Amino acid sequence: MKVHDEETGDGARRPMIQLRLQPSWREELLVAKVLRCRDLGMNCPKEIRAQTEEELLKLAAEHAEKDHGVPASMIPPSIMAMVKASIKDE
Ligand SMILES: [Zn+2]
Repeated sequence: MKVHDEETGDGARRPMIQLRLQPSWREELLVAKVLRCRDLGMNCPKEIRAQTEEELLKLAAEHAEKDHGVPASMIPPSIMAMVKASIKDE
């Protein structure tokens, strides 16, 4: 019996830590989430806003790629965790 950690099937390894810092966000759809690039130590005035964390992370990834030349796939989980921790309600 070989117990091997099960892959998702598509060959892509999912992040081991699924950070769900705010499981109640669904109740706050009218509250904007804001992420300031500066809070991540970037010398960048960009503020990203979205209704949900999911949407915000998508926009943040686009911004990182477009304005910082960092493809989302190159962002390590540790940075993603930092990004999520920096998301604020507005
Ligand atoms: Zn930026």
